[in-house]
Amino acid sequence: MNINSAINQASKILRNKLIKNSQLDCEILMAKTINKDRNFILLNSNNSLSKNDLNYFYFLVKKRSLGTPIAYLTNKKFFWNSEFFVTNDTLIPRPDSELVVENILSLSKYKSKINVLDIGIGSGCILLSILKERKNFYGTGIDISKKCLNISRINAINLKVSSRLKLYKSDVDKFDLGKYDIIVSNPPYIVNYKIKYLERDVAKFEPKQALNGGLDGFSEIRKVVKKSSELIKKNGKFILEIGFDQKNKVINLLKKEGFYINSIQKDLGDNDRCIVSTKI
Ligand code: GLN
Repeated sequence: MNINSAINQASKILRNKLIKNSQLDCEILMAKTINKDRNFILLNSNNSLSKNDLNYFYFLVKKRSLGTPIAYLTNKKFFWNSEFFVTNDTLIPRPDSELVVENILSLSKYKSKINVLDIGIGSGCILLSILKERKNFYGTGIDISKKCLNISRINAINLKVSSRLKLYKSDVDKFDLGKYDIIVSNPPYIVNYKIKYLERDVAKFEPKQALNGGLDGFSEIRKVVKKSSELIKKNGKFILEIGFDQKNKVINLLKKEGFYINSIQKDLGDNDRCIVSTKI
């Protein structure tokens, strides 16, 4: 069978399972199968496939048909300016979180040699994107997941920023090292019983640890705000990603811990997603 017919057949399978971008997904999975990029697939669609390749392709398609996200099947996701290695131990980097990167870059345009702390670094997409853009910044990342730290390290090496990165396995409560000019966090902020109502790809396949914000969705945010107020320098900036309905409560938490609210930014879906504040 050739590439084109395999993709068309598989795309039908995905469409029957109501997968939205079935054709694109199959092209990506074919590219993964034969270890080429998508352009190659489109330009060489008449090439025939070996039996092994075909079997592997259908193995991936089957997994996709059951909901496994493309990023976990290809082990990569593009975010900001780079491709990140991801596994199902980390959240898949989201375009919404690019807002956080954008904010940090714009408020640190003329700064140098500053220390940035990322609480819950995950794949590293936020902090490493910043280190890649700002060659004289230093980063510290903490996470409770050792596997995430390993993935962050791999991404830091790929992006050539690992010499400016320190990683620690730590609970946010227990971390007490250093003082930071900028603190950033995308903590788990989904109300725990609502996780099962998120999109199937998210609910069934992404790590609960990275999503679960406890009974009211704020259990990690509270800890992150409190710890940040201790670890941040005076006049330091704190940039926090939040859930669409958490703005007012988070503003109160921040004010209580001595932060001045600079701005609240909306994501591509017009939801409040990112709060920028300053420690006063
Ligand atoms: N924004 C994520 C979602 O799509 C949640 C990420 C988080 O809890 N930090 O559900």
